[in-house]
Amino acid sequence: MARYSGAVCRQCRREKLKLYLKGDRCYSDKCSFERRAFPPGQHGQARIRKVSDYAIQLREKQKVRRIYGMLEGQFRRCFENAEKAKAVTGEYLLVLLERRLDNTLFRLGFASSRSQARQIVRHNHILVNGKKVNIPSYTVLINDVITVKEKSRQNSSINESLDAVVRRGVPSWLELDRDNFKGVVKVLPDRQEISMPIQEQLIVELYSK
Ligand code: SF4
Repeated sequence: MARYSGAVCRQCRREKLKLYLKGDRCYSDKCSFERRAFPPGQHGQARIRKVSDYAIQLREKQKVRRIYGMLEGQFRRCFENAEKAKAVTGEYLLVLLERRLDNTLFRLGFASSRSQARQIVRHNHILVNGKKVNIPSYTVLINDVITVKEKSRQNSSINESLDAVVRRGVPSWLELDRDNFKGVVKVLPDRQEISMPIQEQLIVELYSK
């Protein structure tokens, strides 16, 4: 499957915001954004020009797409699914993104970043309700039980991430049983649970043009 293969930290600098794409490194003083909090490239530190509404909407969409590590087509399809629902489109888009299996694993602490979570899923380490699921975009439901396969419980990156989850905390819509490598979706996530500064209405406006 196609994926972004460029320099990861450039994405944070481009969006002028820490997107937390690299796990533990993001919390350390090695974070590139801490040292160079301006857009990459020759004109990165140039005087700020007046930006159009379209540019503001585009940046907001790119920011959210990058946070969740999705390609344009996947993100667009997710938006179209949100549009079909009888809910506020922008808010529901964020809820659908939160319910992705890779994001859920990241939130539970089974992985230190969403990209690591995607790898764990694709490498068949994860069971949902006792069945193997290797699709990172799988949408979790209430009462879904997510476990790490018995054979994969020695995996050092999973264990290190679980040990570090104390720092981030687990959101209230999920429950983690660290000893049994198990997570449960107690309720569906709420917009209020997403603490990153996101203006989802700008994405709706962009795609409504
Ligand atoms: Fe972004 Fe993390 Fe890189 Fe810092 S270390 S620039 S937060 S991806």
